[in-house]
Amino acid sequence: MAYVISSDCVACGTCQGECPTGAISEGDIYVIDPDVCIDCGTCADACPTGAINPGE
Ligand code: SF4
Repeated sequence: MAYVISSDCVACGTCQGECPTGAISEGDIYVIDPDVCIDCGTCADACPTGAINPGE
């Protein structure tokens, strides 16, 4: 189950630089491609606003 970025995202880009698989794309808020995410949690640990959470 891929991680998901919530509306708490401030589009700082920190997560994108941390993701080992390049699953995160830039936008108004950042978005995780569920087909590329390996569910490692690195981005969630790096996010300064706590906007990234495990999917359900
Ligand atoms: Fe990338 Fe890991 Fe975050 Fe998935 S959980 S988007 S693989 S850093």
